[in-house]
Amino acid sequence: MILQNWWFTTLLGMNEPIRPPLKRHIRADVLIVGAGAAGLSAANYFIGRGLKTVLLEKNICGGSSSGKSAGFLTPDSELELSQLIRRFGITGAKDLWSVPTKGIEMMKSNIHRYQISCDFQIQDSLFLGIGKGGWRDIQEEMKSRKALGFDQILYNETDIQSVIGSKGYSGGVRYKDTYGIDALLYCQGMKKLLVRNDIDIYESSEVISVSDHCARTHLGSVTAEQIIFCADKIEPSLSRYADNIYHAQTFLSISEPLNEMMVKSIFPEDKFQCWDSTLVYSYFRLTGDNRILLGGGSMLTTFSKNDVNSSKVIDMVIRNFKNTFPQLKGLRFIQYWPGRIDSTRDLLPTILKDPAAPWLHFVLGCVGLPWATFCGDFAARHSVQTDQQDDHHYYEYFRADRHFFVPLWMEKIISKQLVFSINNGWAKYYQRDAENNKRTKELLLTRKLNNSKPNTHSSREC
Ligand SMILES: Cc1cc2nc3c(=O)[nH]c(=O)nc-3n(C[C@H](O)[C@H](O)[C@H](O)COP(=O)(O)OP(=O)(O)OC[C@H]3O[C@@H](n4cnc5c(N)ncnc54)[C@H](O)[C@@H]3O)c2cc1C
Repeated sequence: MILQNWWFTTLLGMNEPIRPPLKRHIRADVLIVGAGAAGLSAANYFIGRGLKTVLLEKNICGGSSSGKSAGFLTPDSELELSQLIRRFGITGAKDLWSVPTKGIEMMKSNIHRYQISCDFQIQDSLFLGIGKGGWRDIQEEMKSRKALGFDQILYNETDIQSVIGSKGYSGGVRYKDTYGIDALLYCQGMKKLLVRNDIDIYESSEVISVSDHCARTHLGSVTAEQIIFCADKIEPSLSRYADNIYHAQTFLSISEPLNEMMVKSIFPEDKFQCWDSTLVYSYFRLTGDNRILLGGGSMLTTFSKNDVNSSKVIDMVIRNFKNTFPQLKGLRFIQYWPGRIDSTRDLLPTILKDPAAPWLHFVLGCVGLPWATFCGDFAARHSVQTDQQDDHHYYEYFRADRHFFVPLWMEKIISKQLVFSINNGWAKYYQRDAENNKRTKELLLTRKLNNSKPNTHSSREC
């Protein structure tokens, strides 16, 4: 098994051209920094709006988290519905759940409308319980989905074996409108669409500094009226909000293609995208050519400070998977790759306009492709036409100074990883934001948020 992102292998097979780096100074109305799901979605908003838009990406489009991801398009990401209900109540949870749901719709619509070839698979979600605790989690998820009026099917320990070829699960919940994609090909497909529609894209162009409307790269610079940062692993020199961002590491692996008999033995009825109820959960689905895409992690490596490239963790995930599906004992996994997901302490994104420089927007810590897609579009809409938008209240949920159990200054005393784990655990299992939610509603009634209009003078130089 070699250390290599499978989606890069698929990309090399497509012979997609790379956009050259920026090598001069240009002016623009809008500059977007970072071309993952969020940045590409932001750029997409500017198609046909008569604003000169530039997108700078330090790698290739989709070259970081988006293009490493497993491509599960589901609203769940790391946040379970029951956790949102506990924190924000039914109304707040519904409001927040609609963020990734809209993100999925946007991605699906782009794929179909622009015929982006990205191994699009219709795959119902199957959340699988392990042991008695897992069965409780399944029932909790079922209850939460019902409370929000969603459709789903519940399987108990006996029924679940009719849809998944394993005796390792204590139950499951299944639901529709979820999909699987090759997210790197999606990002590259979006790149082609944007370029065709006069958005200037420069790959291999890292923004190294920003001041007074001007962003510099190693070889060029852009002066823009509005700058939207959709960059990951952002350096403190580029944003004073960089400290709000944490990372969670997960690992992926890909197998050789399964024959039809093997496919039927694990998915007797339908090909699902699956994840289980354990804390550091495993997840798997089939690609279009019937390879198993399997992911997971370990407690030790999830919050590790640096990238862990060893195959030890994924070897363990593969071993457990084969114990759960003994019929796949002889299956060979050929490539694996790690990835650190940007996240905030409560797994909700952070979106804001810098109060000191309202032309500077930040979209940070989006966990999940659908979240990132919605948030990029949100920032784009609000950067130029905020008075025409009716969803300002998301700025309140996603503000950088929202309440966390352990304050940021504690990081100077105990480690950043420890503060992250405690806040993260608190937000997931104990935090209640009903009061904050009430405050959000009051705020919405009494003032219009972030009503700053774009600055229209254009005489700035780098
Ligand atoms: C292994 C793995 C598996 C995952 N599986 C799933 C999944 O199945 N489903 C799901 O929904 N989510 C999944 N995720 C999470 C998901 O990939 C991310 O949440 C999502 O891609 C975030 O999108 P983004 O656009 O915010 O960030 P990114 O995709 O990280 O994009 C940010 C971009 O900014 C660029 N950049 C950074 N700094 C600069 C700079 N200074 N100048 C220019 N460019 C810069 C980066 O190169 C990058 O391309 C997974 C993540 C990983 C790592």
